[in-house]
Amino acid sequence: MKVAEKQQIVPSYPFEAPPKQGQAVEVAPGILWMRKPLPPPLSHINTWAIADGAGWTAVDTGMQSSETAAGWSEAIAGALKHRPIERVFGTHMHPDHIGMAGWLTRRFECRLWMTRLEYLTCRVLVADTGREAPAEGVEFYRRAGWDDEAIDQYRARFGGFGKAVYQLPDSYRRIVDGERIAIGEHEWTVVVGSGHSPEHASLYCPALRVLISGDQVLPRISSNVSVFPTEPDADPLADWFDSLVHFERTVPDDVLVLPSHNEPFTGLHSRLHSLANGHLRGLDRLRKQLAEPKRVVDLFGALFARNVYADPHLLGMATGECIAHLNYLIARGEAKAERGDDGVDRYRRA
Ligand SMILES: [Zn+2]
Repeated sequence: MKVAEKQQIVPSYPFEAPPKQGQAVEVAPGILWMRKPLPPPLSHINTWAIADGAGWTAVDTGMQSSETAAGWSEAIAGALKHRPIERVFGTHMHPDHIGMAGWLTRRFECRLWMTRLEYLTCRVLVADTGREAPAEGVEFYRRAGWDDEAIDQYRARFGGFGKAVYQLPDSYRRIVDGERIAIGEHEWTVVVGSGHSPEHASLYCPALRVLISGDQVLPRISSNVSVFPTEPDADPLADWFDSLVHFERTVPDDVLVLPSHNEPFTGLHSRLHSLANGHLRGLDRLRKQLAEPKRVVDLFGALFARNVYADPHLLGMATGECIAHLNYLIARGEAKAERGDDGVDRYRRA
């Protein structure tokens, strides 16, 4: 008798509870899952330690704060058994990932391994701290339809990036897409993606069937894909779609995915498809809205369920992501923007 196969529900989460601050859960042989605190709404970032000879390779580090430092110290004395961290991988430049890299590399006199665009972009963004908000930035958000209060918030918050990053090491070890790196007993392959950040590195281990995905594949939330004032005509959503395809071709479906937020999961390929479909549906809703001219701020409802005005950080991400979708349509001849006498852009179908 053939027993009907129960369809696997994806993503599925094989671990019941996340590790507490300072503790670790072994999710695969020699791979420890740890957490570091973050302000809401994310609340945490996952960091990983891979057994590497007599010590560890750390992947991602948490945001710079005394709480994160305390978490690392507790982990080093506890789960990491006082063995040294031999090197630090940064998946990408965002402060929740790279914030404590300089602290760890100095403490253990080890090197930071990162892609070139992530390392250099991080150095540039950190250098903004202490500067006034640039005219190009103010103009960019005014064109999107921000009011004076939101612009004032942007000015007040400008330079915050560097405050969340401990001084980066002044040299690093470059990693590139497709590179194979021995960590402990196994070989890992670097898989680069783009769209969330310029040259994001994930690490895939064929022998262990594990993918450390960083922010490239998250199970319960979608990664922010944004346009920023430094490159207002960028098309990061095209890069993001290409990256989803690259991951599907490079990494098999039956891996355990270790993401930077939420929990380890299985069901990689179906998650890649649902991430792509989420953006495709967003593009469709935008196409409908653009029958009449609209400002960026008029279009949030088509893309986001949340009230993006709830906090200024969210407003910045929503604006960047909305422009990413609009630039995608413009680059394909489906939409165009016209600047009004008030200096604000109106988008409509081409
Ligand atoms: Zn990120």
